[in-house]
Amino acid sequence: MTRASASGENGEGRDSAVVVGGGIAGLAAAARLAEAGASVTVFEREPFLGGRAGAWTERLPSGEPYEMERGFHAFFRQYYNLRALLRRADPGLSVLAPVADYPILGPGGARESFAGLPARAPWNVAALVRRTPTLGLRDISRVSIPNALAMLSFDPERTYEAYGHLSAKDYLDALRFPPAARRMLFDVFAHSFFNPEDEMSAGELLMMFHFYFMANPEGLVFDVSRRPLSTGMWEPLGRYLAALGVRVVTGMAIDRIERAGRRWRVVAGDAEEALADAVVIAANVSGVKGLVDRSPALGDEAWRQRVAELSLTRPFAVWRLWLDTPTGPDRPAFAGTTGLGELDNISLYHAIEDESRAYAEREGGAVVELHAYALPEPVDAGALKADLLAGLYASYPETKRARIVYDRFLLRADCPAFPPGAAERRPGVTTPSPGVALAGDFVSLPFPSALMERAAASGFLAAGAALPAADRAGITTVPRRGLLSPLSRFRRAASLHGNKGHADGPVRNV
Ligand SMILES: Cc1cc2nc3c(=O)[nH]c(=O)nc-3n(C[C@H](O)[C@H](O)[C@H](O)COP(=O)(O)OP(=O)(O)OC[C@H]3O[C@@H](n4cnc5c(N)ncnc54)[C@H](O)[C@@H]3O)c2cc1C
Repeated sequence: MTRASASGENGEGRDSAVVVGGGIAGLAAAARLAEAGASVTVFEREPFLGGRAGAWTERLPSGEPYEMERGFHAFFRQYYNLRALLRRADPGLSVLAPVADYPILGPGGARESFAGLPARAPWNVAALVRRTPTLGLRDISRVSIPNALAMLSFDPERTYEAYGHLSAKDYLDALRFPPAARRMLFDVFAHSFFNPEDEMSAGELLMMFHFYFMANPEGLVFDVSRRPLSTGMWEPLGRYLAALGVRVVTGMAIDRIERAGRRWRVVAGDAEEALADAVVIAANVSGVKGLVDRSPALGDEAWRQRVAELSLTRPFAVWRLWLDTPTGPDRPAFAGTTGLGELDNISLYHAIEDESRAYAEREGGAVVELHAYALPEPVDAGALKADLLAGLYASYPETKRARIVYDRFLLRADCPAFPPGAAERRPGVTTPSPGVALAGDFVSLPFPSALMERAAASGFLAAGAALPAADRAGITTVPRRGLLSPLSRFRRAASLHGNKGHADGPVRNV
């Protein structure tokens, strides 16, 4: 058994901290804890860092190595905390490249674009409504104005009170958009959070509208990683942490957390244990639930019950195809799709990442990734692949001629569910156990945030909640309330965003 040393034992008098999980939330927590001077150990179950945004090495039939990912990831500009985390290893964010357009493709050549919209609400909404071909004046007169205004008046308490128990489907039905406009403008958006509309809370959907569109001063544009996420982001961040003295143990699952006097004993089976003053649990939903279940000393009955109620949403599929023929020269690097069976988006990896670009240039081919989210169960992989290919062929007919040289298909179910009525029961960053905090993209936060950004922001907050010394810097967020919220401080908050892009400074808008 290996025992990690801790303050007092190693004679250095430093606080010791353990982070369970090496995804984005865990890496953010580890960075904050180490920067605050703690002696930190990160335990990650998988052999690589990055969690759901991670990547690992596989080989093409030729023997050539490549990095396989859990799928394409979009790095939105208002991901202030994630960007602050990445800047620690890459100060200029040189790994990120902008994506010029982000079209939505539908049946029969339908196309919607978010490029060139004004960045701010309500001008972006007005411009989108004016130019969208699926929405005429008569359609607009039928739209439910109170429900539409809910998008502009997000409030972290009132919105959840009014819409938190409603499903996103019921809310979108009540909006009364014409079916084609609804499909092009809303269906893709709802699916982007991996939850089916009828199983997702309308309150969460409105929070996402607010975070990505209404309150996002950067506009609905994003960057992509020029390099595989492993070599481009997580390995450099791992080196940054190592330079701060953080011990990163991969391939090691934590079994349980026990009380050890005023400290905590974090146990990984018979192999290893560590004593810590502070613990950040940054595992995914099933990891957290298992860990809490096996750790009776953690929390109190009410908190344990709330953790037990966390759930996963339906499965998603990621299918990467290596083709022997190029895609058309004008095809966008990334496109959302709707009304094309189960297909949710198409990304052209050869237009995004250097590794795939080198393959495509050398072989005269293409590397294409197809995603399908919130899949109905049980999933028939063969039927799903046929459906995804049909969506690809309908969108990019030139790919019908291409031979699939190699493919990699992932079917997973590990993204959090956001069902109606769950928001008020969702555990936050703090726990009833002193020195123990929770982080991840499923954790309740006091400001709007989602996906990778929610993971990063919760990691920073959890570090401060677990160890007071790490609580010295705040975080930056988009404005907390919508433009039309009675309590809005939108204008003031937006104008306070002077250093939003580079600092994880004080919580400006909360
Ligand atoms: C296909 C796909 C596409 C996506 N696209 C986007 C996108 O475009 N934009 C965006 O913002 N987000 C996107 N996301 C979501 C994003 O990946 C997640 O929100 C984010 O990575 C979650 O990070 P996390 O740290 O909260 O959790 P995770 O990444 O799940 O990290 C938790 C870690 O804990 C580890 N763990 C679990 N149990 C234990 C244990 N007992 N001991 C030790 N370790 C343990 C796990 O192995 C894992 O590495 C996408 C997700 C998927 C699946």
